[in-house]
Amino acid sequence: MKAAVWYDVKDLRVEEKEVPDTKSGQVKIKVAWTGICGSDLHEYVAGPIIIPKDKKDPLTGVQAPLTMGHEFSGVVEEVGAGVESVRVGDKVAVNPLIVSGKAKDTLTDMYRGFGFVGLNSDGGFADYVVVDEEHAVKLDENMSLEHAALMEPTAVALQAIRESRMEFGESVAIFGAGPIGLLTIIAARAAGAKEIYAFDLSEERLEKAREVGATEAINSGKEDPVKYILDKFPDGIDRSLEVAGVEPTFHQAVEVTRPRGTMTIISIYEKPVEFHPMSLTSSGVHIVSTLAYEPDIFETTAKMMSSGQIDPSPIITSHIEIEDIVEKGFNALLNDKSQAKILVKLSGEK
Ligand SMILES: [Zn+2]
Repeated sequence: MKAAVWYDVKDLRVEEKEVPDTKSGQVKIKVAWTGICGSDLHEYVAGPIIIPKDKKDPLTGVQAPLTMGHEFSGVVEEVGAGVESVRVGDKVAVNPLIVSGKAKDTLTDMYRGFGFVGLNSDGGFADYVVVDEEHAVKLDENMSLEHAALMEPTAVALQAIRESRMEFGESVAIFGAGPIGLLTIIAARAAGAKEIYAFDLSEERLEKAREVGATEAINSGKEDPVKYILDKFPDGIDRSLEVAGVEPTFHQAVEVTRPRGTMTIISIYEKPVEFHPMSLTSSGVHIVSTLAYEPDIFETTAKMMSSGQIDPSPIITSHIEIEDIVEKGFNALLNDKSQAKILVKLSGEK
């Protein structure tokens, strides 16, 4: 089978690999579609960040070279002994989060060590993937496999809205309109946000932000986001969500938020931020962060997508073949801001 394998920074190779065996408790999936994620780009440009390179991963026991891809869907091809939750022929999406199992409470568990199928073990940029049963989430028959490849990043956005404690009828400011920023707009709308203000530097991304439901999408290179929000909301906005991952947007997100409102960190920060705790003491703003998704959020995302309550498909900007993953996938995302979510076609089943 074909697979896109991460060897090292700037070294992603499409090569022939053996189809993996299915052991007991495992599920073999014939992959349909796999999305390219921002964290895949981080690994490609500046890795290894999460990928275990110099020693074996403590949770999975494997290390690079590894097949990437953690946002994928497909059809069950084979099940190992003892598997009960899915059968051959079922449509599935993969919940790639790997946890240690050390803590009983799932909320605590992911903070005792975490990894992802496709970063810490072989993932979905391949014709077949074998995962432990708990990662295979059975989908309704009507669910599009193409859209199901967006389930994982959509679950990230739903979890972020939960962590922000946004309530129905509140207003939000979202900093960054890349794929996760766009999905956060979609999730905030589904959760009943009254007004959604999106900030970015790219006109193409702002256009997308309007298309998926931002009330206003503002170029923060031209307008000062803090002034813009405080003109409309003199006491500050209810919730801000930081999806850009850089120091200026970190500070702006805190400054636009009302006392007792929350600023939620969704981004992966490559660098530390200089921050004065008095900015919280004197403003009453709460800062929270979010990581991945609780299991119930992943299931909720599957149900809400299948019923059409939430539709992340407008963020798809192109479909490519696995052979073109470096040029038309990774390099396109790095160089062309009009790209949001690029899906890699494996079986291509709808
Ligand atoms: Zn991702």
